[in-house]
Parts: sequence; C-alpha cells; structure tokens
Amino acid sequence: MWYMSTRGRSRLTLSDAIGAGLALDGGLYLPERVPTVEVQGPGERLADTAKVLLKPFFEGDRLEPALEGICERAFTFDAPLRRLGGERYLLELFHGPTAAFKDFAARFLAETLRVRAEQEAFSRGEPPLTATVLVATSGDTGAAVASAFWGLPYFRVVVLYPEGRVSARQAHQLGAFGDNVACLKVRGSFDDCQGLVKAAFADEALRARYGLTSANSISLGRLLPQVVYFGHAALQLRERRVFSPVVVVPTGNLGNAFACLLARRMGLPVGEVILATNANRVLVEYVETGRYEPRPSVATLANAMDVGAPSNWERLRVMEPEREGLRAVSVGDEDIRASIVRSWEEDGVVVCPHTACGMWAERVWRERGGKGGVMVVATAHPAKFETVVEPLLKREVEVPERLMEVLGRASQAEPLEPNLDALRHWLQSSHK
Ligand SMILES: *Cc1c(COP(=O)(O)O)cnc(C)c1O
Repeated sequence: MWYMSTRGRSRLTLSDAIGAGLALDGGLYLPERVPTVEVQGPGERLADTAKVLLKPFFEGDRLEPALEGICERAFTFDAPLRRLGGERYLLELFHGPTAAFKDFAARFLAETLRVRAEQEAFSRGEPPLTATVLVATSGDTGAAVASAFWGLPYFRVVVLYPEGRVSARQAHQLGAFGDNVACLKVRGSFDDCQGLVKAAFADEALRARYGLTSANSISLGRLLPQVVYFGHAALQLRERRVFSPVVVVPTGNLGNAFACLLARRMGLPVGEVILATNANRVLVEYVETGRYEPRPSVATLANAMDVGAPSNWERLRVMEPEREGLRAVSVGDEDIRASIVRSWEEDGVVVCPHTACGMWAERVWRERGGKGGVMVVATAHPAKFETVVEPLLKREVEVPERLMEVLGRASQAEPLEPNLDALRHWLQSSHK
C-alpha cells in the first residue's frame, strides 16, 4: 500500500509517511486507493477489530509484522455505545486516560513511532536516539499526547499551552505528568504556541539536534486508528439490526470526522455523516456550497473545535470531491447551552460542550424529518468542562477515577516567552 499526498507530488510507504507527518510537498498523505474490507461482525474487543480493519493499510510495510502488538498496546480501553432510546445511540470515546477521544489516536501513534525508532536503530546497529515530540495545545491534544508517550523510552514530550487560556483542570492535567514530559506555559495565545512549534520545525538545525517529531492531527498515525471505533460501533449496531446509521461527529479540524468518512469508503456500514461544528462555520459553508473560505477562528464554549482553517480539509476535498452523503450543522453557544440542558432532561446524559453540538445537530436532523438509526459521537467526558456544564445543570458532574487521580498529583509548568529564542534556550538547558 502506498500513500499519496493530496497535492500529488509525494508518494511514500506507510512508515515513511508516518515519519514525515506533513507530506513532503506540503499536502497530507492519503492511501493511494482506499481498501475495502468485508467483515462479518465486530471483533470481541476493539483491539481485535483494529487488527482486521488496519491490516490492509499496513500491507507490505515494514511495520506490518508489528501491527498486532501495536493494536494490543494502543486499544486498551473501550468505546461503548450507550442507547439513548429507539435507534438513537451515543458512541462514548472518552474512556481513555485523559478522557477525550484523542487518546485512541495518540496511543496508536506513540506505539507506532516507538516501533519505528527501534527498527531504525536496529538497521543502524545503534541504540535509538531520543526524539522530542513538540506539541502545541489548547487543552486536549497535549494531554493525550503527553499521556501516550509518558514513560516510553527514546521519547520526551514538550507541551506548550497558552497560560491562562486553558481550564484549571486542563492546566493541572498537563503539568501533572513529569518524567519524560515537560510542560511549558507560554505567555501568549494558542496561535503563539502553534507558531512557536512551526518555527521550531522550520529550523533545520534545531530539528536535527533534538530529533523534533510532530504528533499533530494530520499524521496518518493518528488518522488510521480512528477508523477502528467507527467501524466497530457500526458493526455492533448491524448486529442489533440497526443498519448503516447516520453518524453525527462534532468537529473542528476534521480529524475524527474524516476517519468516519474513511471507514464508510472502506465499506463499513455507516450512513450519512453529519458534521457538527460550533459557531466556526467554514466547514458548513464548504459542505453546502463547495466554497472553502478559511478565516481566523472565533472563541466558543466548545473550544477544542475553535478552528477557522480545518487542517484536514485537503483530505476531504480529495477523497469526497462531490461531498455526497455529507451534511454539516453549525451550533452557536446559546444552542450549546440549550443542548446540554435538553440532553440531560430528555435523554438523561450529561454531555461536554463539544458533544452538545452533536446532540443539537441530531435534533435538527430529526426535526427536518430524519429517520432511522443514528449515532452521536461523544468526544470528551463532561467533567473536563465542568465550569460550563455544572452551572447549567445545577449539579456536580462526577469525575472519573482516572481524572481524579491526575488532579490529586502535583503539577508543574515552566513559563516561556513566546519567541523561538526562548524555546531554543529552554531546549538547550533541559537537554541531557
Ligand atoms: C479535538 C476535539 C474535537 C475536534 O476534533 P477534530 O478531529 O479536530 O475535528 C472535538 N471535541 C473534543 C473534546 C476534542 O478534544
């Protein structure tokens, strides 16, 4: 299996494409042809489904013999379907260590990069070099990546977050890892953090010296594993005689939602896909009119989806040029609040502000006459966004044990000025 850039000028194997992150011509890698799979049903566990669904993507690659082990170590928690009533389901993707869906992809990427590092070291006949995973975050990405690489040999993680602009719980979580995870609170915005990471990667000397490695959502190593839970859930529903449900995916960068479209292209029983965005409407306009007009993002209650230029859009344009079987709904902050309240009152579920966008989009779809099975994706545990959810529901949100444990640990972040010199200096002084 080969991977081709969306811009058509770079073609690599899976290992090389995962190592590259962004394609060499500036595009994003996609499988040259999407493999179709014929499966009877879901595996016993998510890891079993993963081995079957991901096999064709690894075919012929030097990572292929390692796939089963990677799946076993990455898919260690479940993605349960909660029935809301009738043929309406919630796909809960927040049972991982940092309570957001990004845990699945981050763990898979970490395991894959580790195997890759070992294979490279073996062929060089030397021990693996330590790589530095540099990640800018507005909250969930940094925690998922840090958790996935925490304690892994040959890697250290440097997380950059905008000081004062992530929730108190998120900040605590980011600083609570320690060991091979360092946490820097940048005196600036999320864009400043992202700018710093970009500038560091653009600096050849810095990149080589510290083995800078990216873990952002455009990596194939994050895209492919997300196919697994969509496929697993759709196959489970088929066994319950819910055929090809509509899938509603809360989205910002289109990372997760694109994986759902990829699962459908592979022949898995997924029906129409509804993208649920917050007030950032770029994707809604694109789906409805075919015009793509990226712009600066606006801040909303569903802040992990505050994206004005979705990085995976290029993949959508190439794989689904006709935008068939695709809809999009934008949900403003007022409706996010209303959705949190109604999801609790009418469906008995407490949802985070991102999931609330999905629940609202499902409501809109049904009110417009939508019929049949539907699955809304729950992207994070509501306890991560308690400052939004608790005042609306006038009750405390129960904190899952794994989050409690993190919040009970000491947490530490070092301040950093938002310029490359400061980051360079920090990398140098912390390098052992
Ligand atoms: C990252 C994130 C999203 C958006 O996911 P994309 O893949 O960027 O579309 C939605 N909800 C939560 C909780 C997230 O952390």
